[in-house]
Amino acid sequence: MSKLSIGIDVGGTKILAVAIDPSDSTILFESRADTSDSADALIAALADIVEVVSEGATAVSGNAKPVVRNVGLGLPGIVDSTGMLRAAPNLQCAIDVDVKSRLEAILGLPIVVENDASCAAWAEAMLGAGRGVRDLLLVTLGTGIGGGIVRSGELVRGAHGFAGEPGHMLVDPSGPTCTCGRSGCWERFASGTGLGWLGSRAALRGDAPGLLEQVGGDAERIDGELVSVAAQSGDQGALDVFGEFSWWLAAGLANLANLLDPELLLIGGGLADCADLYLEQTRVHFRELVLGGAARTETGIEVATLGSRAGAVGAALLAIGGKTEKS
Ligand SMILES: [Zn+2]
Repeated sequence: MSKLSIGIDVGGTKILAVAIDPSDSTILFESRADTSDSADALIAALADIVEVVSEGATAVSGNAKPVVRNVGLGLPGIVDSTGMLRAAPNLQCAIDVDVKSRLEAILGLPIVVENDASCAAWAEAMLGAGRGVRDLLLVTLGTGIGGGIVRSGELVRGAHGFAGEPGHMLVDPSGPTCTCGRSGCWERFASGTGLGWLGSRAALRGDAPGLLEQVGGDAERIDGELVSVAAQSGDQGALDVFGEFSWWLAAGLANLANLLDPELLLIGGGLADCADLYLEQTRVHFRELVLGGAARTETGIEVATLGSRAGAVGAALLAIGGKTEKS
């Protein structure tokens, strides 16, 4: 092994970098760092972490220092076709900063920059739950909803690079206010934040007394984590909230399937960890909601398998050129 590809996933609070062997996509080394709140510090941290994972991979392989062939960078927001981050509620310091060119100048390497969930979708299509599937969508359920679209075996970027933001499909104009400034986006209902909101609403209606008791009667303090833990311990009110959640999740997935007819819909992000609480109900609601219902060829709804590394691995794979290199 004499070549390395490095993928970096920048989140709102954490950076994860992986060094992979481009011949077989094996992760040789990984490292985490904190995200910075200034662009200069962020770029310095990215340059550092590239060095850390390339040194680490060298130590693991026991060979002479391998050559870093390419670097991919996943950013949490909309990334235009030049690689510039244009909007990112959780990484404001990097908006309209030319991270790509500045990091390329430091590292002396070309860098591919892409939306983080698009990177994750690509990783799942190449190595994860969607391996071998040419038409799939990944939705990542976390604080919000991210998304990535693989169509005919290629990542869909859109005319300007902004494709794959299903979280901001408007599903209920009378719904709660979104971080984007509008009301009733899908992610206000079907993300971790949405789960908490559905829990608060159920508690205010008197339908989730167990949840309300845990927050001392202050329904506003109910968050997605609390609902998940309570549901896992069998609290009926929390389980009913997951029933509602599964409808909202299915509604958005049905919209996506009506538009794109994918073979597979994948659920990733933090809420994928408790998919047993909602996946089956989501499949049932999806069949009710999607156009044609039972008459159409079934679309699979499955859990993504690469977990929190999907974004970083996908960034590395996209930097390689979207194909594993046979050496
Ligand atoms: Zn929105």
